[in-house]
Amino acid sequence: MWRILRPDAFSVLGDEKARRSFPRYFRVLRGELPPRFQVCKRVPAPFDPSWKTEELWRLHGLCLEDFRKLLSLVDGGKLKLEEMEKPASSLLDLKVELARRLLSSCRLCEHRCGVNRLEGERGFCGVGRTRLASEFMHYGEESVLVPSYTVFFSGCTFRCCFCQNWDISQYPEEGEELSPRELSSLISDAERHGARNVNFVGGNPDPHLLFILETLREYGGRLSSVWNSNMYYSSQSAELLKGTQDIYLADFKWGNDSCARKYSGISRYWETVTRNHLTARSDAELLIRHLVMPGHLECCTFPVLRWIAENLGREVRVNVMAQYRPCYMAGKYPEINRFLSPQEFKRAVEEAEELGLNLEP
Ligand code: SF4
Repeated sequence: MWRILRPDAFSVLGDEKARRSFPRYFRVLRGELPPRFQVCKRVPAPFDPSWKTEELWRLHGLCLEDFRKLLSLVDGGKLKLEEMEKPASSLLDLKVELARRLLSSCRLCEHRCGVNRLEGERGFCGVGRTRLASEFMHYGEESVLVPSYTVFFSGCTFRCCFCQNWDISQYPEEGEELSPRELSSLISDAERHGARNVNFVGGNPDPHLLFILETLREYGGRLSSVWNSNMYYSSQSAELLKGTQDIYLADFKWGNDSCARKYSGISRYWETVTRNHLTARSDAELLIRHLVMPGHLECCTFPVLRWIAENLGREVRVNVMAQYRPCYMAGKYPEINRFLSPQEFKRAVEEAEELGLNLEP
């Protein structure tokens, strides 16, 4: 059915430019390789929960080196995961323990609220226990992802005044509470129904890192994992994400801190998001979304596209998006209370083409 709905999702499998951007993901799709988090589960990480957090981070660094060696052997066809014993305690178990500790004085994102979310305290995002706003097979994502089993978590670390998903992002108390095991079972169902990946989004997945790692620990299948984020997570979260994601589906909207502060309510945007893009690029494959905002070509679109070309290389897939709509509270800002003009979008695409970026058609 999806081949009729999205013929490009089928033809992209033979697209040379897409294959260059997602070489490993394509091999996972063909069943030749396991997703990264399954490799993570085979890396031994012997630790005791009584250990100090610094000791656990030290072990995590060592285990990540082991992970990279193991991944290289698996990808090179020298080792099969099925032939390896499962360790009593794995790198993924260690990541779960560290994520739990991060929640006790929450530093999952760069707001660094320091609240004890394990005791029910709430920070900027307002997220308490993880809730799912919805989950379904998504046919509207980029062609390489479709069909994408997409999990929408409630809550977000941004306050974008034009948010299209404000009913999800700004209401962290809404939605259904599931256990990681229940979500894992839904992912397995989606895999049986032809999903290409599991896509964690929201709102934003970052405040739900612990829950998502626990879910991946439960899930025994072969779908790739996609981290669909605003990229505002902390460097500690970036460390914990390493080795667990196959694609970072990264939102890169603002070209400077002042626009980010004005329209999304956040500080230190540029420093944080560029840092996380670089880390993501070194860890896995990257698909960047840039939403072109009306009146923001010079201050946002051009700097973002140039930074991508200069720092991430031209193999990285970029989706220059024209979908902006003045939703939610955009009416309070007359300068963005309109649709993008065709001329603005054309200039954005021309700039991306001139820079030689690998664009999503
Ligand atoms: S996830 Fe970010 S915004 Fe939410 S409580 Fe933690 S540090 Fe604060």
